[in-house]
Amino acid sequence: MATLLDGRSLARTLREQLQAEAEAWSRLSGQVPTIALLRAGADEALLSHARSVRRTFERAGFGFQEIELPADSDTEAVIAEVCRLNGERSVHGILIQEPLPAHVDQNAVVEALNPLKDVDGVHPLNAGRLLQQRGRYHVSSTPLGGITLLEHYGISFQGALAVVVGRSNIVGKPLALLLLHRHATVVVCHSRTKELAELTRQADILCVAVGRAGLITGEMVKPGATVVDFGINFVDGRLVGDVDFDSAAERAGAITPVPGGTGPVTAAMLLHNTLQAARWLGERGEDNAA
Ligand code: NDP
Repeated sequence: MATLLDGRSLARTLREQLQAEAEAWSRLSGQVPTIALLRAGADEALLSHARSVRRTFERAGFGFQEIELPADSDTEAVIAEVCRLNGERSVHGILIQEPLPAHVDQNAVVEALNPLKDVDGVHPLNAGRLLQQRGRYHVSSTPLGGITLLEHYGISFQGALAVVVGRSNIVGKPLALLLLHRHATVVVCHSRTKELAELTRQADILCVAVGRAGLITGEMVKPGATVVDFGINFVDGRLVGDVDFDSAAERAGAITPVPGGTGPVTAAMLLHNTLQAARWLGERGEDNAA
């Protein structure tokens, strides 16, 4: 039976460490590391995500703000709010909850973010710096959490064949880069990939971030492989990943459960990125708007 990559227990440890680090930083700076969640409209999935982030932040003694704009806000109104938060000294991280309404120019909103406050690593400056491994940058908390979980369990990257299924800017692409930077050989698959199973069956490390329950079955997993499931799907009211856990666990050497795998570590990484943003902004002095 595969080793369970337990994200809950790692997340607990990380949260305790980050809480202690944040308290130490607060004593020096007189501030509390704080995130602001910005959304337009009150979609239930966004509200549920916001509740979960609030819980994580408040339990760890971090600050949390929530800004909800009307669903009919135009691009200019959303950008104006981003600019206000950029200039707000008490806010260190800004998370734009997606999706924004279809009529809002998402790229323009993201580009308005102060890259230092972009704790989800979506601004092109952060994405570009990750690509080039140059200077300081934030990395999206989900792929960062996945890598942190693998490192915690001593999974070896160097020379491993890593197959990433999914190529979004928020999970698949940054994850592929993080693996590449750790000297894995990386294959990225997507909806137009032919013969997905032939590729996944070769993977030493198989990472799946698609959003389709049961996409990966046991027969698509190489015996002994490490399987990391980022998927969030609700089937008959039950949270499941993209990997058929039971059949994959029979072949894998190590596997993340859903729930309790990548999700809790993602939440801890958002604390990490917010504290990192607070420190970087603090080093720049009073004016944290640029
Ligand atoms: P997106 O919808 O942005 O991207 C999905 C990706 O999957 C796309 O690249 C798409 O390909 C690819 N894809 C779709 N169908 C297939 C298929 N049949 N075979 C192979 N690839 C396919 O999703 P996200 O990246 O934002 O999220 C992915 C999953 O991860 C979701 O379930 C989401 O809820 C979850 N998630 C989990 C988090 C966590 O903390 N664990 C945090 C954030 C997200 P193409 O590019 O060609 O369209």
